[in-house]
Amino acid sequence: MDPLQELKARIARDHAYLAQKLGLRADIELIVYKVTYADLGEPTVDCGHGITSEWPYAGYKPGVIAIPIEGHALEEASLANTAPPVHVWDGDRRGAWPEWRCDIWHEVCHQYQDERLGKWNKQDGNNGHRVGWRDAVHEVADKVGCDRATFYDLMRTEEVPPSA
Ligand SMILES: [Zn+2]
Repeated sequence: MDPLQELKARIARDHAYLAQKLGLRADIELIVYKVTYADLGEPTVDCGHGITSEWPYAGYKPGVIAIPIEGHALEEASLANTAPPVHVWDGDRRGAWPEWRCDIWHEVCHQYQDERLGKWNKQDGNNGHRVGWRDAVHEVADKVGCDRATFYDLMRTEEVPPSA
């Protein structure tokens, strides 16, 4: 299988697992795309929902989750092919989990914040990480059996530019 499709299947598997465990919509649109760099001469691809392949940040909006994949992650696609439940919780997001897993679980926390807590608001002043974010992460941690502080650390995110 093409490595990108293989990764997409793994990401979809994690989403299906979490949706079932957390009581969330399973029928979201999952966009998994390879990040491209125009300055390296790579073509920009329209991924839908206003996302282009130059955008390197994962994102959530109701019914849609987008996960960008950097080229090196495709080369490492054989790593961490562990089906959930995942029992590695050492809090080191770079070492414990591949980036795609941190990304999809993070975006599922937003889905939980939206669908279960009714507190999704990307304009909350911190790109959706202010109102209801900590509650969502803590409740998801409890439901997947992870210590809250460790899980919160795993779910931390890079600062996304305000134009996102
Ligand atoms: Zn986020």
